[in-house]
Amino acid sequence: MTDLTRRTLLRGAAAGIASALGPAALLGCTGSDGPAASGARTPRPSGAATPTGPTTRARPTVADWRALGSGLEGDVVLLDDAGYDAARRLYQPRFDVRRPAAVVRARSTADVREAVMFGRRHGVAVRPMAGGHSYVGASTADGAMVISVRPMSRVEYDPASQTVLLGAGGLLFDVHRTLEAHGRTVPTGSCPSVGAAGLTFGGGLGAEMRAYGLTCDNLRAATVVTADGEVREVSAERDADLWWALRGGGGGNLGVVTSMRMRTHPAGEVGFSFLTWRDADAEAMVLGWQGRVPAQPRSAWANLHLDASPDGSIRPIVVGLALDGDAEREADRLVATVGREPASRDVFTRSHHEATKLLAGCSELTDDQCRLQPDGALNRADTASGSDVLGGPMSGRTVRSLLRVIRARAESGGTAAAILDPLGGAVADVGVGGTAFAWRRALATVQWYVALSPSAPTSEVRDTYRWIAEGHRALRAASVGAYVNYLEPGRAVGSYYGPNYARLRRVKRRYDPDGMFRSGAPIAA
Ligand SMILES: Cc1cc2nc3c(=O)[nH]c(=O)nc-3n(C[C@H](O)[C@H](O)[C@H](O)COP(=O)(O)OP(=O)(O)OC[C@H]3O[C@@H](n4cnc5c(N)ncnc54)[C@H](O)[C@@H]3O)c2cc1C
Repeated sequence: MTDLTRRTLLRGAAAGIASALGPAALLGCTGSDGPAASGARTPRPSGAATPTGPTTRARPTVADWRALGSGLEGDVVLLDDAGYDAARRLYQPRFDVRRPAAVVRARSTADVREAVMFGRRHGVAVRPMAGGHSYVGASTADGAMVISVRPMSRVEYDPASQTVLLGAGGLLFDVHRTLEAHGRTVPTGSCPSVGAAGLTFGGGLGAEMRAYGLTCDNLRAATVVTADGEVREVSAERDADLWWALRGGGGGNLGVVTSMRMRTHPAGEVGFSFLTWRDADAEAMVLGWQGRVPAQPRSAWANLHLDASPDGSIRPIVVGLALDGDAEREADRLVATVGREPASRDVFTRSHHEATKLLAGCSELTDDQCRLQPDGALNRADTASGSDVLGGPMSGRTVRSLLRVIRARAESGGTAAAILDPLGGAVADVGVGGTAFAWRRALATVQWYVALSPSAPTSEVRDTYRWIAEGHRALRAASVGAYVNYLEPGRAVGSYYGPNYARLRRVKRRYDPDGMFRSGAPIAA
């Protein structure tokens, strides 16, 4: 491995985040925010849960919670219990200030149903939690009942149907590790400890999506407990509206999913190219990249990192993947479109498992070290993040605005990145209204990413989001919305869902009319 890959991957691993390629972890193995996103019609900021239904109902007593716990296969952890802090912990330490009333560690669909019925009886808001990586900490809230599906983490591959059955608590690394033993894969994001559940319900962007679609496009069926306590086996044949909404409508909005069946694909060797350009070539590089990616074959994916370096410069890096193994060819074509030679070029091939680890930023670690800490706790980091969706190619003027914002950050001595992930290919095989993920015809997503210092003061968080807001302004002419898995505070809810928001509201009215569930991009009933 060359210096570049080793250095960048180690950096990612050290931060407990996926790779390399920038602080930004290829696909955003990074975190974000503070207060939940708010929207035009649902403007409630927050770490505080909204009680559901009539508010006259008595809040549950400790005895009520204990009675709930005694009937479960799993358990209920309350504020004064020894395991409370571990049970409620999310990926980002800054959400530790939130104090849910209880964490139900569910071991079965029946447990989840009991908990939902309990929430309904007592008017307690429910927050499902899987991997805990919500960028706005949406899987917990003050006073809420967190239903953690983490104990339901089985991953079972069925060779006959070439599908995989996932407990909703499965983490991405475990999914890949199991499937790779059978020579199979599912397209997902790269961060090993992200929950397959949360990722799937928002869509699921990843390096294999141009070949095999978004993660949600590979969902075949799901078991969902809705606010009325019904256990629904949801698929194209049953509960069609809910089925539609689960695929891109964002986790936490409509019920608690307890298991998912997914289609799988062959997992072969993966070709990689890491190309870096000089700061002076950044504009040509961005224009060339956006000219090339729509023409790439589906087997290819090339994401662009524009890193602000503390020395005041911009470091443009393209990470290319070739599922047909021929990374040289795609690198040559990209360089030809850019019209400038990269300052460094690094091309190599990896087994699928090694590719998964490389993207996860843990190549040099054992599989166990890759997913969680030895005591089972998440690797954690505080970050601020946000997103835009590029409807089509940016004009030269917009590209210059984008670079100006990144340069200003670099010149102020701060690090940050804009990570552009190409869509297209199989993502565009589905119509805009085919699932709740609306950005089927878009060119790319842009993730804004900043690593925060440990225990970052509020002022640092505020300044960081101010910089991200400048990024949004720079892209105004090209941006058509945002990606619901990259939530940020203060963004209008409708901008995550675009033309699909009206239908999502109808689905919400039908399945959760009292607003028992509330995500970081809360769909108004
Ligand atoms: C480090 C990092 C890397 C990331 N990398 C990528 C990436 O490569 N590609 C990408 O697309 N996204 C990526 N993301 C974004 C990620 O997909 C979302 O944050 C996702 O929502 C996290 O899911 P989770 O289960 O880990 O989180 P959680 O916080 O547990 O859940 C997220 C949301 O889903 C809800 N939810 C959780 N479980 C269930 C359930 N069983 N039923 C119903 N709702 C549920 C929660 O209530 C919450 O609203 C990344 C995020 C981070 C922090």
